[in-house]
Amino acid sequence: MAPLFSDRLFIVDLDDTLANTTRDMRGSWENLPQLTLAPGAHQFVRRYGERTVLLTAGNEEVQLRKIAHLGLKGILRLEIVVPEPELKQAALESLLASCALPPSRFVIIGDRLDKEIAAGNRLGFVTVRMRLPHGRWGAYEPASEEERPHATIETFDELEGALLSLPY
Ligand SMILES: [Mg+2]
Repeated sequence: MAPLFSDRLFIVDLDDTLANTTRDMRGSWENLPQLTLAPGAHQFVRRYGERTVLLTAGNEEVQLRKIAHLGLKGILRLEIVVPEPELKQAALESLLASCALPPSRFVIIGDRLDKEIAAGNRLGFVTVRMRLPHGRWGAYEPASEEERPHATIETFDELEGALLSLPY
């Protein structure tokens, strides 16, 4: 099936968004072989991989190993690893500056309201919260309007429907 949202650029977080990190790794990178993709993520990257930038924070070697283990290498437009979550904002600003797309065509998907969602809202992106049932930040509530996502999903299967229901 052709992608419904072929005019968007998706910026997707890795841990507790594309992958079940908290549930599968249980706080230790030695459990990396058990790491699995979140529900619907496989289909999402098959459909939208060409239009997806993976933006993740953490140790570069560990994050790249997760990406390779999950079979995501080479099927996404770009993979960006920043050392700290605070640096995601600057990475998003660079992406916006380097792509000939208005901010409203960017869709950021992440589990952190204070990081991905707030950063996306500040830049005028469409913001989607991934709230995996076992996600570390699942119980967190928005602390400000800036942290309020446009939509919340629990699986990637819900993404297209969530975007269709938005007025943008
Ligand atoms: Mg995350």
